[in-house]
Amino acid sequence: MTVWQEVVDQEEVISQLKLAVIDAEKAKSNSASPAFTQTWLITGPPGSGRSVAARAFAAAIQCNQGGCAACQSCQQVINNAHRDVSLLTPAGLSIGIEEVRELIQKAALEPSSGNWQVVIIEDADRLTVPAANALLKSLEEPARNTFFILCAPTAEDVLPTIRSRCRHLGMRLPRTSEVARLLVERNKVEPELASFVAKAALGHVGVAKALATDPRARERREQTLQIPLKLDSLPACFIQAQLLHNSIMELVLEVQDERDENEKLELLTAYGAGTQGVKQSRVDFLARGAMRDLKDDQKSRRTRTTRDQLDRALQDLLSLYRDVLFVQLGVEVELINQELKSTIERLAARATPMATRRALDAIQDSRTAISVSANPLLVIESLLINLARTA
Ligand SMILES: [Zn+2]
Repeated sequence: MTVWQEVVDQEEVISQLKLAVIDAEKAKSNSASPAFTQTWLITGPPGSGRSVAARAFAAAIQCNQGGCAACQSCQQVINNAHRDVSLLTPAGLSIGIEEVRELIQKAALEPSSGNWQVVIIEDADRLTVPAANALLKSLEEPARNTFFILCAPTAEDVLPTIRSRCRHLGMRLPRTSEVARLLVERNKVEPELASFVAKAALGHVGVAKALATDPRARERREQTLQIPLKLDSLPACFIQAQLLHNSIMELVLEVQDERDENEKLELLTAYGAGTQGVKQSRVDFLARGAMRDLKDDQKSRRTRTTRDQLDRALQDLLSLYRDVLFVQLGVEVELINQELKSTIERLAARATPMATRRALDAIQDSRTAISVSANPLLVIESLLINLARTA
C-alpha cells in the first residue's frame, strides 16, 4: 500500500511525481537534478483526482519512504493534519488576497519536521487577480524548503504569469473500468453496482463513490433522467423545471445548513458567547464585522454548491441524450444508461438525430450559462423548453 494507490488510472502523472519525490530527497543533500522544481501545477477535469494527486505528492515528499501511506507523517497528510502541509480549498467562488497572504506567510516558515513546507492550492483557477499577483513572487523564488502545488481544471484556467512559473502535469478522467475496480477493492461495492455507477458518473471518482454509497443520489439521478419524457406541454416544462430546481435546492440546504449554523456558533463562541458575565448584546456588537464576512462566505459557498449540483444534473441529461443519439444512429456501443433502455428508445423514436444534436447543444449551453452566473431556475426552464421542442 502506498499513497499513490488513491490516484486512479494516472500512470504517467504518478511516474513524473515519483521522480520529483526522488529529486526532492536529493535536494536535501544538495544533489538534485537541474530539473528540480518546487512549484507544480496539476490539472485535470473535475473528478480526475487532481487534488488527490496533490495530496499524495505532498505525503510522498514528507515521508521518509516516498509515501508509504502507513507512517504517522503520511497519515497526517492524508487526514489534513500535517503541520507542514497547508491546504487551501476554496469553498466559495473565489480565493482572495487575504487567504493567499496567510498561506505565503506559512510557506516562508521553516518546516517543523525538518523536511518540507508544502502548500497546496486547490482550484487555483479561482484566485482573484490581486491574490494571484500576491502569490507570484513566492512562486518565482520559493523559500529553500517550500513546495507549491497548484490544482486547476486546465492550464488555460490559470493566469499565464502563474502558469509559466510552474511545472505542469495534466491528468485525464480515469477509465470507468478503473473507477469500478477502485470501488470494488476499496469501498467493497458489489461489482455490478460499481460498474454501473462508474459509467453513470462518467469516470468522476467522487461522484461514482457518492452514487455507489448513497441510494438517494441514485434516486435523484433517475428522477432527472425521467424528465425528458414528461415534457409534453409548456406548463409541463415549467413544472418539471420547478421540481428539478427544488430537488437541487433541498440537497444544497441539506449539505449547507448544519455547517452554516456550526460556523456561526463557533464564531460567536470565539467572541465570548456562553462565557459567564459576557452579555449577548456585547458579543453581537463585537462579532458584527466577522459575522458579515462569514455570511458572505456562506452565500458564496451556497452559490457554488448549487452550480455544482445543477451541473451534475445537466451532465446526467447529456449522458442520456448521448445514448439516444447512438440508438438513433444505430451505433453499437454500450449505453451509459443501459437500465433506461426503454426510455432511451422512446426518446429516440420521437426525434431525428439532428434534433438530438440540438438537445445536446442546448444542454452544453446551459452548463456554460450556469458556470458564469445565470439564475439556475431560468436556465433550467429555458433548457426544458428547448428539449421539448426537439421532440
Ligand atoms: Zn509514509
